[in-house]
Amino acid sequence: MVDFVADYHRDIESFPVRSQVKPGYLRPLLPDSAPAEPETVEDVFADLWSKILPGITHWQSPKFFGYYPCNVSTAGMLGEMLCGGLNVNGFSWITSPAATELETIVLDWLGKLLHLPEEFLSTFGKGGGVIQGTASEAVLVVMLAARKRALKQVSSAAQGMSEAEALSKLVVYSSDQTHSCVIKACQVASIATENFRPLPTDASTNFALSPPVVRKAIATDVEAGLIPFFLCGTLGTTSSAAVDPLEELGDIAKEYGMWYHIDAAYAGNACICPEFRHYLNGVEKADSYNMNPHKWLLTNFDCSTLWMKDSEFLLAALSNKPVFLRNEATDNNLVVDYKDWQIPLGRRFRALKLWMVMRLYGTSGLQSFIRSHVSSAKHFESLVQADSRFEVMAPVTFSLVCFRLRTLPGSQDNSNSLNSKLVDALNRKGNIFVTHTELSGIYTVRFAVGATHTELQHVQAAWEVIQAEASHLLNGKQ
Ligand SMILES: *Cc1c(COP(=O)(O)O)cnc(C)c1O
Repeated sequence: MVDFVADYHRDIESFPVRSQVKPGYLRPLLPDSAPAEPETVEDVFADLWSKILPGITHWQSPKFFGYYPCNVSTAGMLGEMLCGGLNVNGFSWITSPAATELETIVLDWLGKLLHLPEEFLSTFGKGGGVIQGTASEAVLVVMLAARKRALKQVSSAAQGMSEAEALSKLVVYSSDQTHSCVIKACQVASIATENFRPLPTDASTNFALSPPVVRKAIATDVEAGLIPFFLCGTLGTTSSAAVDPLEELGDIAKEYGMWYHIDAAYAGNACICPEFRHYLNGVEKADSYNMNPHKWLLTNFDCSTLWMKDSEFLLAALSNKPVFLRNEATDNNLVVDYKDWQIPLGRRFRALKLWMVMRLYGTSGLQSFIRSHVSSAKHFESLVQADSRFEVMAPVTFSLVCFRLRTLPGSQDNSNSLNSKLVDALNRKGNIFVTHTELSGIYTVRFAVGATHTELQHVQAAWEVIQAEASHLLNGKQ
């Protein structure tokens, strides 16, 4: 299997980046039911090559520029192997003390690399970090903590309001660029979807939240008897990598006693470099902060790191003590049991891969990884700017370039459909893979540099592929 993976990575550029199969391709290729008798691993390998690989989109290809990256590294894979090999289920300290303690330590390491305020470190007070599977889970658990805190505040204010009534009044604020995981968290946490405020942004603020818009929305809701309780700022939005004004949002959250969360799933990773750390200013005003090393810090999926200043309400929301899990260390409050910091009970020993990555790269290796992608993206931006048929649609702050073919004489629809044809053609041919978004209703191509093996030469080659396809499309039109 190690050889298979090594060969796969060696040959990865020979595959079309996006899988070219049609929906339902696999069923006719496999038997209707599981084999009655054991098969050999050779049989399985044969199917892997012939039946599974064609249905793979090659996220690890250096020509993958879609979504945001999903990094891999030898260090990360070694950590995954170790995790699978030991295969402990570290839900409480007693089930494998090293699993809990290593996680606490590597989250302190990473927190220090980011220069998080010390309240976010385990060594300070009731705060600390935890590894979640995804940013979506991170946002959900902090929203549950925030809900607990808000409901307690309402009941202690003795307004004679039932918990159900108070729950129906809780309001969540973020921008219309915020990731869909925030509305998903509302769905799970029983926050009425009509009480979710995706506040408008536009090109005038580079698609970042505007504090007066936030204040106005909150004031209107308070006037109407609603209860603002959760504000989510984003560092590096999914569409265009916009950065919300994190400090001002922190002040607003404080003024209204709201929980303030910062979601930095992708761009937060860049903040391990001193020259990017200022984007995180304002984190000292946040209750919680998350980012995904599995996106852009060389750590194999899944690894989303979450820190909070005070775990009291998280534990109040998620902790319980069934008799079959009781033990002396837990009963005497000597340890952290991470089962109380997440939705499921069971948990993998994910800290191993983050530990491997941080040790085998060192801070300098991690920083140069980020910097090489940022400079490749900057180069790509200059290539786009040099071709008058194209325009850049948002500032290139990290390693995402949003661009499109300019509007032709004619309607905007025309330009939207032209750019959508461009993306379809590129992905159908499979030489590169890109995705798209809409910015103020304008179809925009997203070019995210960040796959582990992507170098400047791949970015340059990708631009040539895009230019050729654009010429083909435009000439076809004439
Ligand atoms: C990718 C992304 C997410 C979702 O990440 P998951 O780990 O897949 O849940 C959330 N927020 C932002 C800003 C993202 O870019």
